[in-house]
Amino acid sequence: MVDLVLRAANLTKVYRGRRGHAPVDALSDVSLDLERGTTFGIVGESGCGKSTLARLLVGLEAPTSGTIRIDDQPVVISERSASRELARKIQLVFQDPFSSLDPRMTVGKALKEVLTVHSLHTDMTSLRASELLSMVGLTRRFAERYPHELSGGQAQRVAIARALAVEPEILVLDEPTSALDVSVRAEIINLLVRIQDELKLSYLFISHDLSMVRHISDDIAVMYLGRVVEMGRYDQVFVTPLHPYTSALEDAIPVPNPEHERSRQAAGAVAVHVQVDKVTRGCPYAPRCALVEPRCRDTAPTLTEKANGHMVSCLVALDDAQ
Ligand code: ADP
Ligand code: MG
Repeated sequence: MVDLVLRAANLTKVYRGRRGHAPVDALSDVSLDLERGTTFGIVGESGCGKSTLARLLVGLEAPTSGTIRIDDQPVVISERSASRELARKIQLVFQDPFSSLDPRMTVGKALKEVLTVHSLHTDMTSLRASELLSMVGLTRRFAERYPHELSGGQAQRVAIARALAVEPEILVLDEPTSALDVSVRAEIINLLVRIQDELKLSYLFISHDLSMVRHISDDIAVMYLGRVVEMGRYDQVFVTPLHPYTSALEDAIPVPNPEHERSRQAAGAVAVHVQVDKVTRGCPYAPRCALVEPRCRDTAPTLTEKANGHMVSCLVALDDAQ
């Protein structure tokens, strides 16, 4: 039997429009199941709702509708907060590590403070602080440092240690390496993989970059304009992508070969980053789709199983023989 640590069903988030603007459908009917001890990759371009999903899952914001269960318990979200015990079980690591660190607080103090935030009446002894720092590859001396004395990579290690301090079961990693130098990205990924293994953690790993999630994910969801357009096991999504947007994202993965790069640009694969206005009828991806058919402009597809848990939201892909 599959052991699900987290189950999100039909999550929707509508933000009230800023003055004079229409409401924003940041997230529409997103469902996903995270199996214990595995990594679920979520990928999609900037603005597609990834961080909104992250904030709902960790209880920083309430969904407009939909439910979240952790360890088969409903996360009761009032407008004000989620269940405290469940909130502890799921921790968020942000893209910008400095945003989660108070500039006036030493690393040691920041580790201590997170226990207070969660009303955990355990002590952050200096031994425990050293243990947490060592887990993220830092010496205990870092406990005395202030955020401005840390490099980006070191700050992200501290942010990870802080998330681990409350002994969570799930880490939501929202583009955890995007703000870092290319040279330290692999170090942080390797660190996360090692920690997951040691602590048997479950990860939701969010990135705008498919090449980031491809090596570490067991399952993948591809998001477009607030919806999941394709979802499945890692090999299903990578070996036999069904949605034309997934293929476009794959084509956009930089290949260190100038010849290939030129032909790729000529083929229009880079058009993936063009912003498109919201479509009110038919398939939201139709204006950018290479496979678009007349019916796509009338009928909106729904996320449907094509084969063995491999889901896609595309009329054309669903009709194609396997
Ligand atoms: P991503 O993380 O994939 O870049 P976000 O979840 O940050 O996407 O944003 C999804 C959409 O919701 C965007 O159109 C964004 O402008 C909008 N949005 C996010 N937060 C708010 C907010 N607090 N109020 C209004 N709109 C928001
Ligand atoms: Mg984001």
